[in-house]
Parts: sequence; C-alpha cells; structure tokens
Amino acid sequence: MATPVISAFLDGRHVSRPELRRFEKRDPATDALIAEVEESDTALVDEAVQAALRAARGVAAAASADQRADWLLKIAGAIRRRFDAFVDAEVRDTGKPLSMVRSVEIPRAIATFETFAELLRTHRDDVVVTALPEGRRAVNMTTRLPHGVVAIICPWNFPLVLAVWKIAPALACGNAVVVKPSEETPSSVALLARVIEEIELPKGLFNVVYGFGQDSAGALLAAHPGVNALTFTGETRTGEAIMAAAARGVRPVSLELGGKNAAIVFGSADLDAAIEGSARSAFLNSGQVCFGTERLYVHRPLFERFVDGLSARAAALRMGDPLDPGTTMGPLISRRHRDKVLRACAVARDEGATVHTGGQAPAMAGRLAEGAWMAPTIWTGLDESSTIVRHEVFGPCCHIAPFDDEEEAVHLANDSEYGLAAALWSRDHAQALRVSARLRAGVVWVNAWGIRDLRTPFGGLGRSGIGREGGPASLDFYSQQRNVCSLV
Ligand code: NAD
Repeated sequence: MATPVISAFLDGRHVSRPELRRFEKRDPATDALIAEVEESDTALVDEAVQAALRAARGVAAAASADQRADWLLKIAGAIRRRFDAFVDAEVRDTGKPLSMVRSVEIPRAIATFETFAELLRTHRDDVVVTALPEGRRAVNMTTRLPHGVVAIICPWNFPLVLAVWKIAPALACGNAVVVKPSEETPSSVALLARVIEEIELPKGLFNVVYGFGQDSAGALLAAHPGVNALTFTGETRTGEAIMAAAARGVRPVSLELGGKNAAIVFGSADLDAAIEGSARSAFLNSGQVCFGTERLYVHRPLFERFVDGLSARAAALRMGDPLDPGTTMGPLISRRHRDKVLRACAVARDEGATVHTGGQAPAMAGRLAEGAWMAPTIWTGLDESSTIVRHEVFGPCCHIAPFDDEEEAVHLANDSEYGLAAALWSRDHAQALRVSARLRAGVVWVNAWGIRDLRTPFGGLGRSGIGREGGPASLDFYSQQRNVCSLV
C-alpha cells in the first residue's frame, strides 16, 4: 500500500504541491514509516493566514454565538462518527496503548468541543449601571470581541487533545485558526481537517499547516503579521521564541510550558493510594505528561516502603504492542527523544544516583525491536542541585528523596524555576489545606493526581508559562473585552 501523504488544509481544501519538501512520520512502537508529510513553506503559511483573515472578517464576524456553538457541536459529532479512525491515527502516531486513547483521549477531544459549545450558550455578558452625580444614569455593556486570526502551535504528547483544547475556545470566541501540529504527530489533526471538510464548516475558519519549528512552518506562522494572537504548548525554550515573535505587533500570547513537578507524601498519607497515584503521575503516557511528577518527596519513616512500592508498580507495567489490550505502557514519541532520556539516565548515574529500576532501554522482540522503548526508571540519592532534579526529563523517570518535616517538604517542592503542577498526599485535612495553599504551582492535587475538569483554569507559574486556559479563562484569552457605555 502506498504511504499516505499529509498536506496542508486551507480555505476549506487540501493543498498539495510537488515542490514542497516532505518529511517522514514513523510509528514510534515499530519505527515503520506511516506517512509522508508535506512541509508548508512561506507561501503556504501565508495563504493559510490570508484564508483565516478572510474568514475572521467575514463568516466568523457575522456568526451569532448560537451559530458558533452549532459549529462546535457539528465537529464533536463528526469526531464521534469517525471515532475508530481517530483512535487509530493517535495510536499509530504516538504508540500509546489503544485502551488509553479509546477511553480517555478521543472522548476528551469530543467533550472539549461540547464543553465550549455549552459555555458559549450559557455565558452572559455583563451589564453595569452607573449612577451619575446629576441624577442621570449610564449603562455599561461589556461584550467580547474576537482577536481575528489565532495561531495554534502544538506539542506531541497529547496531539489531538491539546490541539482541540485551543481550537474549540478559539472558534467559540469567533476567531479563525491556523493550527501547526507537532512534526512528530500530524495524523490526528490531519483527520480533523478531513472531517471538517466533510461537514463543510465555512471555508477558512480552520486551517492547518505542517512542518517543524525553527526555520519552518512553526516560526513562519508565529512571525506572520496577519496573526492576531498566538497560543502555544511546548517546551519553555520554544515558548521564549514564541513570546519574542508575539512581541512584534504587541500580540497576546498564551504559553503552556514545561514543568518539574513535585509530589509530597506525608507521614499520615494512605501509602497504597500515594504509591498508586504517584505511579500514574510518573509513568502514564511513558512519563510524557506536562503535569507528570518527576520529583517525589516522602516523609522519612515511609521512605523505603514507598520506594519499594513504586518500584513494584514500575515492574508491573507491561510494555508491548499498543494494540494489545494488555499493554499498559507504550514507547517514547521517537528514537531521538529516547536518546535524550537515555542521556539523562547517564547524567543521573554520573551525578551519583542509585538506580532502583530501569535506567535503560528494554530489549523488545519482533516488530517492536526498533521502537523507541524506555524502561520506567526510579532514582534516589541525588543532590537537590543536580541536573536531574532541576531539569525536565519528560520520560518515565522520577527521583525520590526523603524529608523530615512539613517546612522542609514545602521548601523542597517549591525550589524550582517551574511551577506547573504539584500533588500532596496526607490524611491530615488541616495539613493538606495548609500545604496546598503554600505550593507554588498552577494546579495542586490533594490525595489525587491528574483530574482535569475542562471548565477549570490551567496554566503554570514561573518558567511553566503565562496565562490560563480552561472554561471562562479560555474565553478571556481568545477574546478581548470591550465596554460600551451609554447615557440613559
Ligand atoms: P517543543 O517546544 O519542542 O515543540 C512544540 C511545538 O512548537 C511543535 O509544533 C514545534 O514544531 C513548534 N516549534 C518548535 N520551535 C519553534 C519555533 N522556534 N517557533 C515556532 N514553533 C516552534 O515541545 P514538544 O517537545 O513538542 O513538547 C514537549 C514539551 O511540552 C514539554 O516541555 C512539556 O512539558 C510541554 N508541555 C506543556 C504542557 C502544558 O500544558 N503546560 C502540555 C503538554 C506539553
């Protein structure tokens, strides 16, 4: 069978050009070639932005909130009808276990469109009456204006979920979008373009370009003067480049960046629940979760039992064919990323870590032999100033250190340039409230990890980002408020 070719989608149609460079997309579980992707060049990125500009000024500007909510529901329905195809695209691009993509990711993408449609229908604009000294009154109506064209630049770890997390509210607010998925994971957004073509969403509202970051489609899109706002999820260093690009033209930017997230396990914790939750937070999606835990601090009396318990959980993970229902852990996103994680393992050893489990690539058999596999890894014994404790690894790896009292635990957890997420485990309710209020992170989980309600704000402190998205916070980013004041 011929290798599928993925090409840009703009102004309601797919555009393929022979002169465009192509890059390969490989299945990370097997290293098999699954698609060739046409890299959008300067002309194509410009055409996509121009198409979006026309739609933003035309059809999007004229549409009522109800119409926009209908668009979102139509997209949700179209994804639901092609559910299996979306599952297949995501599993092949990422190597994630089929069960996770089926039960979590595609349902969440659908729910995101539905949630923002609902928010649009229930959202009320503000009216404030001002009493003036001479006895007259003024009525203030605060309404929202779209930005126009929103550029959406996405990472690879939850390709569809994180793209839709931005696409849905951007369209809800009356913008047109140009999406640039990660070069590692083009397939599910390509399928979204197909279903959007099928449902005949008005032309130009939704556009997709493909390519890399620097010197490619990502940087071209971020720099394009026709883009009115930028939203980005990815690495902190890339976020700096996007922010610099957004400065030209003083354009709003939302940055959801990296983390080095901590969890604290207090002496009163339900140890089994803490081990179970920490195993998920460190190893889910092979550790490629922005709010995953890479630093664990455990009350000294529990330390050894916790390390043993987490090591047992790591050993129980089943790496294997993503299509096998028994598989609980897939590969990393690419062999290049696996090499980066293996380099981190070498640094950990050089810095004096004790390796309790993992630290290497496992030998996989048959068609999986060439995949980007990495064993779950647990380290102890590193100094807090070590590279591994300070920098994001973004693999199935964590470091565990003991602490003696609450003050020390809070200090250790907060001692990071990042501030995306934190978790704490304690059965002492007063302690849980006291400590959660002191943790420097955009989201704090208490006796839990990873629960993400789409209606709640999400974002990081420090080097983890700027701005919040989710529920009303997304409406705030994807629109601009305007007050109309009228004397009555
Ligand atoms: P990345 O920064 O390497 O790439 C993200 C996207 O940016 C890709 O589409 C890439 O092509 C593009 N890009 C790269 N350089 C660019 C440039 N100079 N100009 C414009 N675009 C450019 O990130 P990644 O490796 O895809 O994702 C992993 C990172 O994302 C981790 O650091 C993780 O913590 C972070 N992340 C954060 C969140 C969050 O919500 N805070 C969520 C998921 C992932």
